[in-house]
Amino acid sequence: MTQSTFAEIGGVLRAHQRIAVLGHVRPDGDALGSQLALALSLQQLGKDVTVWNEDGLLEKYDFLPGGERLTKPPGSPQDFDVAIALDTATQSRLGTAGEAVRSARTWINVDHHPSNPGYGDLVYIDPVSPATGQILFELIQSEKFPMDAAIAENLFVAISTDTGSFQYPKTTARTFEIGAELLRWGVDVGRISQLLYENYPRRRTELLRELLGTMRFEANGKIACFGLSLKVAADLKVKPEDNEGLIDHLRAIHGVIVAVFFEELADGKVRVSMRSKSEDVDVSAICQKFGGGGHKLAAGTRVRGTLAEVEQKILKAICDVIDCNS
Ligand code: AMP
Ligand code: MN
Ligand code: MN
Repeated sequence: MTQSTFAEIGGVLRAHQRIAVLGHVRPDGDALGSQLALALSLQQLGKDVTVWNEDGLLEKYDFLPGGERLTKPPGSPQDFDVAIALDTATQSRLGTAGEAVRSARTWINVDHHPSNPGYGDLVYIDPVSPATGQILFELIQSEKFPMDAAIAENLFVAISTDTGSFQYPKTTARTFEIGAELLRWGVDVGRISQLLYENYPRRRTELLRELLGTMRFEANGKIACFGLSLKVAADLKVKPEDNEGLIDHLRAIHGVIVAVFFEELADGKVRVSMRSKSEDVDVSAICQKFGGGGHKLAAGTRVRGTLAEVEQKILKAICDVIDCNS
């Protein structure tokens, strides 16, 4: 895989008219913020921009500027000159949004997942970047693409959510510089942070109460996990996005090295979300053994089986990596 330069990617985007901006299924703030930031910038360049995500715009992100532009893809494919995938570790994680793009002459892949295999014609993967939003800031700046307060707000959401509010280890001095620059563009950090982190529906905390009831520890407290069954999810009427971030309550516990969240899905699989607190325990490598991927300290996968079966398999795989006896 050869990496492209910002100039090459910028050149292709400038040279074409019909552009699809896509992001991964079950989107997070980095996927949605990145999609909208790039879409708004390209729109100001005069492009015909389509912004699709399999799950559409999540309710909790409905304050994002330009959010009404981000929709679920239609059932039948459409033609584009260029399709650009953002924050998406494998092409299949575009889901129906990828399937709805037909005959895009050029596929661009901009991401920060180390496990990204580099699909597409033009590839820009920066595995040390803490967020795809940070890469897009650099792209927009270096290509002199349009920037304004609305674009800045989307980029700030992308970076803030993927860095755990500028806390995770991939956060660098450059991340703070970009944060400062986005504030100068008009981002109101207090307002945005409150919308992001102090605005959850009550059912999310009710879900946390249920999850804590299933919490267990393995390997002398080095592994902590909890699980969500379809039945509990239905009883509490939770939305899939409600559980984003709840795993952090496990990671925050003293002595825990790996936190795992198991979520039973309707298709007979279990969604596994994993976090590590040690550079020595690469959870992306563990998830890759089960067909998933992600980052060294934050990764995920989907595994066929019941909650109990998948829990057992995954916990064993983690135990194989960390020393479970000391
Ligand atoms: P999550 O636990 O869903 O918040 O995901 C943690 C990280 O792992 C994110 O960066 C995801 O993009 C990535 N990830 C989650 N599931 C998968 C998967 N099935 N394949 C590749 N990467 C994934
Ligand atoms: Mn993401
Ligand atoms: Mn990301």
